[in-house]
Amino acid sequence: MVEQVIPDAGKLVELDRVVLIHRRATVADIAERFARNYAHYKTAPWKNDEPIASIVQKLKALDVATCDYSEIKEAIGTDWTNLDCDICGKSDCETVARIGDEPDYEARWQDICLPCLTKLGAWAESSDTAKSEGEV
Ligand SMILES: [Zn+2]
Repeated sequence: MVEQVIPDAGKLVELDRVVLIHRRATVADIAERFARNYAHYKTAPWKNDEPIASIVQKLKALDVATCDYSEIKEAIGTDWTNLDCDICGKSDCETVARIGDEPDYEARWQDICLPCLTKLGAWAESSDTAKSEGEV
């Protein structure tokens, strides 16, 4: 059994094929990540052709440790920080457990919020017949 330690906000912890993702960690390198993703574009067509360099400057001006996620969305024009739960559909999760592999043709990882993880754990625990029969 792997003992799971919830890290400080902004850190990633990897347990085999499960990664805890904190929303704040997704913004730590947002300016660099955005610039890298749009390195071959001069402007952002989804944002009235605002120059990519202008968006990168706006992102670099933000304090990524404390800024509101809406400031990042406003700078980019689309939401790069949203974490959705694949079970309950909740948006804007602060933390999700990402289980599985990177998206591929027929499969992709699943993001699960902490309340759903708790429910899954309780469900699994209650349906563990071996344990209820005293075999574990
Ligand atoms: Zn959920």
